[in-house]
Amino acid sequence: MIRGDSRALLFALGILLVIGGGAGYGAYTLGTRLGETRSELASTTAAKTSVATELARTRADNEQLSAQLAEQVQKNLTLGTQVDQIASTVTTLTKLSQTDKELLQKYSRVYFLNENYIPSSLSEIDPLYQLDPSRHLQIHSKVKPFLENMLTDASDAGVPIVALSGYRSFAEQKTLKSSYTVTYGSGSNRFSADQGYSEHQLGTAVDLTTKSIAGTSLAFATSPAGIWLDANAYKYGFILSYPKGNTYYQYEPWHWRFIGVALATKLHDTAQHFYDLPQRDMDTYLVSIFD
Ligand SMILES: [Zn+2]
Repeated sequence: MIRGDSRALLFALGILLVIGGGAGYGAYTLGTRLGETRSELASTTAAKTSVATELARTRADNEQLSAQLAEQVQKNLTLGTQVDQIASTVTTLTKLSQTDKELLQKYSRVYFLNENYIPSSLSEIDPLYQLDPSRHLQIHSKVKPFLENMLTDASDAGVPIVALSGYRSFAEQKTLKSSYTVTYGSGSNRFSADQGYSEHQLGTAVDLTTKSIAGTSLAFATSPAGIWLDANAYKYGFILSYPKGNTYYQYEPWHWRFIGVALATKLHDTAQHFYDLPQRDMDTYLVSIFD
């Protein structure tokens, strides 16, 4: 009985050992697997961190590249603008170098036009607009279209205007001057009169009248033609050099000088006289005088 019991006990012990061993082995295997999984997880996390770091670095690189690209694009734009500006400056300078600086010069008792001065090009005023076509009056070739447009429009407005005098050479003026000296005498008046002569030698000044007045007369100012001219001449680039009440020369409602549409319009809009404006302000309009 004891023997039998011992056997049974041994058997049970054996079973327990097997179970225990199995369980131990199972626990061991599970532990190993868990360890492996943990390690895998750790390496996956490490890999993830590494990918994230790489991604962040790539993003930073991209941002830097984008910034560099934007900077380069901006540089190119700036360069393009600078090239445009330089081209525009060169065009302006070329135009300016080809424009006669005397055209907007104020003449005074201290500043005269050189006696050898001749305009770059002269053309005859359309005989239709000359008081006496046999005189073949001339004007600066580039002023001619402005003058003739103005006189055509005056005619269309029912107030025909004709030219009495245009370009005068120094020699022609000398003859006139001596006759004027007799009229005005010597001294300041004689000096002042030289201003008007200079403008005629320039080729951009004309004396205007009507066929009925037919001369340089104050009556022109109050005639319908004179009134029309006073209101519209600036649109064609002409101004009255010696307006009523000016302090530099006698009033000459017949003497009109071409100074360009932009400057004439500015003077008209601000109610200023040509001779009142500083020379440096005038010079800024030189480049666009024939526009
Ligand atoms: Zn004149």
